[in-house]
Amino acid sequence: MTYDILILGGGPGGYVAAIKGAQLGYKVALIEKNTVGGVCLNEGCIPTKTLLKSAKVLRLFNHAASYGIQVKDNAVSFDWTSIQKRKSNVIKTLTDGVKGLLKKNGVVVYPHFGEVIDANHVKVLDDILETKYLILATGASPIIPMIKGLKQQMDKGYVMTYKGLLDYKEIPKTLTVIGGGVIGLEFAQLFASFSTNVTIIERQNNILLPVDDDIRNAYLRLLKKDHIDIITEATVTEILDHAVTYELNGQTHSIESDIVLLSVGMKPNLDAFTSLNLETSKQGVVVDAHLETNQKHVYAIGDVTGKMMLAHAASAQGITAIEHISGKDATYFDDHVPSAIYGFPEIAWIGLTEQQAKKDNIPYKSSKFPLLANGRSLAEGQTDGFVKVLMNPETGEILGAHILASNASDLLAEVVLAIKSEATIADIANAIHLHPSVSESVMESAIGAIHKPIHI
Ligand SMILES: Cc1cc2nc3c(=O)[nH]c(=O)nc-3n(C[C@H](O)[C@H](O)[C@H](O)COP(=O)(O)OP(=O)(O)OC[C@H]3O[C@@H](n4cnc5c(N)ncnc54)[C@H](O)[C@@H]3O)c2cc1C
Repeated sequence: MTYDILILGGGPGGYVAAIKGAQLGYKVALIEKNTVGGVCLNEGCIPTKTLLKSAKVLRLFNHAASYGIQVKDNAVSFDWTSIQKRKSNVIKTLTDGVKGLLKKNGVVVYPHFGEVIDANHVKVLDDILETKYLILATGASPIIPMIKGLKQQMDKGYVMTYKGLLDYKEIPKTLTVIGGGVIGLEFAQLFASFSTNVTIIERQNNILLPVDDDIRNAYLRLLKKDHIDIITEATVTEILDHAVTYELNGQTHSIESDIVLLSVGMKPNLDAFTSLNLETSKQGVVVDAHLETNQKHVYAIGDVTGKMMLAHAASAQGITAIEHISGKDATYFDDHVPSAIYGFPEIAWIGLTEQQAKKDNIPYKSSKFPLLANGRSLAEGQTDGFVKVLMNPETGEILGAHILASNASDLLAEVVLAIKSEATIADIANAIHLHPSVSESVMESAIGAIHKPIHI
């Protein structure tokens, strides 16, 4: 069989590229060994957010009294099996939807493992598929570091990655999380909501290093309220039956827990195309601004490039690659990609942190507006957090935005659009925002960067 474009991997990078390619009239095939939707829909973004929603509802019930609502005899309870079932239903609805979209757009899907023979041929079962263009979208897998006892304890089911924990059959009483990154934090807050005692062990001197310091410090205070313990500058040295051993300040410590989540990062899946001898870096496959590799007509998108391991970045890269194949001068910039952490509250950001601006001697002015001064946040009873913006004091260019709020991921969208369309802080400040809305805090923060906010 001969195709215009063959795509290896059907995650948010691969399946979006496949649909876009078919929309532009190309004959496209997608090779996916598991369920389409990739890590994001099946094991990542969507299942975690679905479980976090159940946690959010529980948290709301636990605070019902503060809204004047009585829960009889404080009898709030939950059923983890039903929560898991809801998660499975959401995943199925979405992955079925993607299957339908691929079919409607005429994308041929090969539900098998694909092995690249060369830039124009991929082996699937006993067939050799031929293509003019090849897009590699094989994603990434959890890093399993060399730690004494780790492999044995993973085999026993005591230590697991996000995959195991997502389907864990009960709420553990105690959970140790190795790694204080985004995935570790989201699981920590998820289980803490169901009263699990969580301890995070982090090797660096702080958790969530890419996050702006002001946001992290405020977030750390909230994690404390959730009774999440964080041990930093600690190196895990051994995993025993029901205990993690780590070194801190030259001393050996040990912590016991029911289970352990290993979340120390992801590494690109390169095995299926070693025959191509592509240029790679520590992060993943090296690509140019059009997502083309060092081999002409071979593209790599998403987590396999290690650029920004986010679903929307993978999809944006997929669209860029297809548009470039179609002859457009399409380019992709990491600078335009927002990030988020979906906890209680959420963190969302784009662009420079204040620390980066300082470090790189970039002139900036920052402005912060607390949700406590926002009417809608008060009405909602969700006043933890603030909006912080950084601008170039001479041009008004938006250098960065950092939001801590229950709906931070949605609030950030206007700043993403502003940056993409080269709007200034003044444009956000002068745009009339709905009242009452939490989005007024974004406007007030922008006003504060230029003059003075009205409501503080
Ligand atoms: C717990 C967790 C939570 C996350 N939450 C978020 C979030 O909230 N927001 C966000 O933006 N990102 C989130 N991410 C990251 C997000 O899931 C990834 O960035 C995204 O899935 C990357 O998309 P991709 O298409 O590059 O790769 P993937 O989604 O990994 O898809 C790659 C696909 O390729 C297939 N494949 C690989 N090799 C072959 C082969 N040889 N033959 C056939 N098929 C193959 C795999 O089966 C897989 O389906 C999360 C990740 C995790 C683990």
